[in-house]
Amino acid sequence: MGAAAFKPENVVFHGEANIRDFIPPNSRVPRRFCKKCSSYIAEDARPVLGVYALPLGLCDQGSVDPIYLPKFHIFYGASWSGGGDDDGD
Ligand SMILES: [Zn+2]
Repeated sequence: MGAAAFKPENVVFHGEANIRDFIPPNSRVPRRFCKKCSSYIAEDARPVLGVYALPLGLCDQGSVDPIYLPKFHIFYGASWSGGGDDDGD
């Protein structure tokens, strides 16, 4: 799953009452889910990376400001697909 990292000061969660946090065993990183439909919302990676990781599938790519488009890959070498970048790198 593709995700983008955002500084905490740039992330606002609306409807906190409808968000459930789950910390997997042996992890310090809470995952955030919608209580109503169980959709994955975010990973609270502040304890280890200082950021929130938001799944790219949440983004309406046509409405995302270009400054927020992905510029880096992390954990790229661990990718199971081994595929190249969209731009052919
Ligand atoms: Zn939902």
